[in-house]
Amino acid sequence: MTRALASLLSEFGDAQVLHGADAVGFEKDWRGQFPGRALAVLQPRTVDEVQAMLRRCAEWQLDVVPQGGNTGLVGGSTPDATGREVVLSLKRLNRIRSLSPTNLTLTAEAGCVLAHLQAAAEGQGLLFPLSLAAEGSCTLGGNLATNAGGTQVLRWGNARDLCLGLEVVTADGALWSDLDGLRKDHRGFNLRDLFIGSEGCLGVITAAVMKLSPQPRTRIAAWVTLNDLEGALALLRHGRLHLGDELSGFEAMAGTVQALLPHLPVPLAPWAVLVELSTQRDEASAQAQVEAWLHEAWAHVPGVRSAVISHSMAQFQDLWALREQIPAAQTEAGGNLKHDISLPLTAIPAFVRDNGAALAQLCPGVRPMVFGHLGDGNLHYNIAPPVGESLAALREAHGEAITRCVFDHVAALGGSFSAEHGIGRLRRDELVRQADPVALDLMRRVKRALDPANRLNPGRVL
Ligand code: FAD
Repeated sequence: MTRALASLLSEFGDAQVLHGADAVGFEKDWRGQFPGRALAVLQPRTVDEVQAMLRRCAEWQLDVVPQGGNTGLVGGSTPDATGREVVLSLKRLNRIRSLSPTNLTLTAEAGCVLAHLQAAAEGQGLLFPLSLAAEGSCTLGGNLATNAGGTQVLRWGNARDLCLGLEVVTADGALWSDLDGLRKDHRGFNLRDLFIGSEGCLGVITAAVMKLSPQPRTRIAAWVTLNDLEGALALLRHGRLHLGDELSGFEAMAGTVQALLPHLPVPLAPWAVLVELSTQRDEASAQAQVEAWLHEAWAHVPGVRSAVISHSMAQFQDLWALREQIPAAQTEAGGNLKHDISLPLTAIPAFVRDNGAALAQLCPGVRPMVFGHLGDGNLHYNIAPPVGESLAALREAHGEAITRCVFDHVAALGGSFSAEHGIGRLRRDELVRQADPVALDLMRRVKRALDPANRLNPGRVL
């Protein structure tokens, strides 16, 4: 046992310092793509303990990897293979400190699981709108550190848009607290926005104040099939005009996804979109509005083929469950090469068509499984191997060329190679390759200013 580990154990005790076999569950991500080995896993229960642990790690010159629910998809939350990094798990820091129906705010600690926060808000007739398929495991701290998006960004924004204030422990153990929850506050530079999306590289988020909204009285989902993506975008435009702000979700799925979900009770091909309306009106009037809108769309939007509308909360949830089972179904089907991209809406149909053709040339038989948050211009552009071939073989033979083809095409159309999953270890080199040199230099200077010894998540993002 190293002297550093012995010192951590003697100061914080066995229950809060895991090592060896006890640490295994924290050492790899859920897909097993970024396995590593940790010197120890620290599990603070209070903010004081986070501070004390970070100070001790600084003294022993230990690198620290903050970890929440460990659902991240870019290798930012697991240790590397050296066995010298310490994982700081925030999961036990999981108190809801306050919920104010008047201020419409929720103040919670970083380790709170997203689904628990949604339930706490719902219990008061309120809505915490951040929503993603990993919500049963991911944590508030991880959501903020990755600036998570998800399915409700169209109306409510991403984690950054929902955050009013943060509490952060810096690399040297100092505590910065900005939990007043003010909606207007211009006292100097906005430090909050610096930490949001910084993937654990600039500080450890210990708590946050988040915005709530009144719980919508009625939510309706419509599953619409269309001939093509141009039609899907025309439907989005039409929906915005007719439903206004009440349009709260617009997800798209390519017909190829059907291969992952063979027993789907609703049609998927050639394209399907899941549209959500959230409103304070009653069920009957909302229902009538969605039906009227779809009738109009049927007449005026080219390529609309069929529509199914939910008539109860159970049906609403069933339709969403179809969309949310896609990530797990992909994993069960053997996985694929993932690209979390965003593009100007107007560029999306041409990108999907032309890039599909380019990939078919490059590697005949590959199957683009395209789905995602179309309303936000964000697609999960995932490439499955040809039928009968393994993902490992595809990655080995063509992985780099496929990703290059996708990312260069995205860049040429003014898009982003990282829409909502972050950079971590997976996309670090791509950031260096594509970022404006001035932006990269500014990022490095910020990192040096806040973490001069490069101890927080080194080698991730930068
Ligand atoms: P972790 O995975 O533990 O950590 C993620 C990053 O944040 C790491 O760099 C880590 O070091 C850092 N970090 C964690 N906690 C803290 C903290 N308290 N302080 C500082 N840094 C911290 N993401 C989306 O945006 N939209 C989606 O729709 C979406 N869908 C998903 C679906 C599935 C099935 C899965 C598995 C993942 C999905 N993700 C999605 C990705 C992931 O769930 C999000 O990135 C989530 O916000 C990560 O939260 P976490 O608590 O699991 O963080």
